[in-house]
Amino acid sequence: MKSLSTEILVIGGGAAGLSAAAEAAAAGAKVLVAESDLHLGGQLVKQTHKFFGSKDEYAGTRGFKIADILLSEIDSCKENVEIHTNTTITGFYPEDGIFTAMRGEEKFFHISAKKTIVATGAQERLIPFPNNDLPGVYGAGAVQTLMNVYGVVPGKRVLMVGAGNIGLIVSYQLMQAGVEVAAVVEAAPRVGGYWVHAAKIRRMGVPILLRHSIKKAVGDQVITGAYITALNDRFEPVGEESYMDCDVICIAVGLSPTTEILSQAGCGMMYVPQLCGLVARRDRTMRTSNPDFFTAGDASGIEEASAAMVEGRIAGLSAASSLGYPTEHGKLDEYWGRLQALRSGEAGARICQGLECVLVNRWEDVSNG
Ligand SMILES: Cc1cc2nc3c(=O)[nH]c(=O)nc-3n(C[C@H](O)[C@H](O)[C@H](O)COP(=O)(O)OP(=O)(O)OC[C@H]3O[C@@H](n4cnc5c(N)ncnc54)[C@H](O)[C@@H]3O)c2cc1C
Repeated sequence: MKSLSTEILVIGGGAAGLSAAAEAAAAGAKVLVAESDLHLGGQLVKQTHKFFGSKDEYAGTRGFKIADILLSEIDSCKENVEIHTNTTITGFYPEDGIFTAMRGEEKFFHISAKKTIVATGAQERLIPFPNNDLPGVYGAGAVQTLMNVYGVVPGKRVLMVGAGNIGLIVSYQLMQAGVEVAAVVEAAPRVGGYWVHAAKIRRMGVPILLRHSIKKAVGDQVITGAYITALNDRFEPVGEESYMDCDVICIAVGLSPTTEILSQAGCGMMYVPQLCGLVARRDRTMRTSNPDFFTAGDASGIEEASAAMVEGRIAGLSAASSLGYPTEHGKLDEYWGRLQALRSGEAGARICQGLECVLVNRWEDVSNG
């Protein structure tokens, strides 16, 4: 079986992985980026809206344009970067220090690396309800990919489940594409996403029904409608169900970090609700309890692309520095300053609480990872 080797393996070519690769390669390290998808950019390539955040992290620029900026940065040190798209890292075998990789569905090979940055992003959560396996029930990420990458609308009338930023932004993008959004149902007593996104879709006539959820999808071969229900403060259905015509039910109820490779590498893991799931403990350099593994982006806790990019830069800088490549003095502190600025709002306070559980000052002081 073919084998590749590299100094730094970056798993995932999204906001975090591309930033990590750019930073490590600029420091002089040889980097291999493995990305499952056919193209680089991760979630960024689907995002047609202008980003919030800070100027350093391209606030005011559309997501797919940010991906282009990161790719041109990588291009400027291309002699140090090997890109493998359509390539999934399927596992890590600690006894041999080998990654198994699959290109397409037929080519298999091994990769060995001195250091690894796991920037595998997140997985969408789904919820159980009768008939949720009928064609027409989508995750919000799939709807975004269909519309914004392939130019295909998923249907004519959508029921959106979830009023976090993803549910709100995808609702708006559906309407921009000429699709009607019947309603957004949200189990919580308040909208989870930014007020500005909620206001925009309310102005376009879409009701956001708080303390409501989907009860059941209706249809024979495909979705033709849905029953929704009000919820009490224990999230139990109350009152009469109401019926809504729709041919698409879009689920946007949150993300969970994708961390299997970190677990396989024996990194100390912890379930942290504020970071939305199981994440690796890490120090300020994004190094995990396995000194050869770093983590960044949504894989290290669900946040935003802006934070993912800065964490990627920290991981890239630290991985290169751990191999002896000289890095600019003070850069780590500068990046932490940028992260702190991004984490200054209400959502940031929740992230900081979560980080208090997983951030380690010195691995030497920690007995069991
Ligand atoms: C609808 C929506 C709107 C958003 N709006 C904003 C916004 O306005 N501002 C903002 O800052 N953020 C926003 N975000 C969040 C932002 O997109 C994510 O936080 C960011 O993309 C995380 O970057 P990442 O690199 O960690 O993950 P991703 O971008 O998801 O990249 C991870 C990559 O890893 C690859 N991968 C996973 N497993 C493997 C494997 N085993 N082998 C190889 N490759 C693998 C995946 O294919 C993927 O390309 C939004 C997200 C969504 C969904």
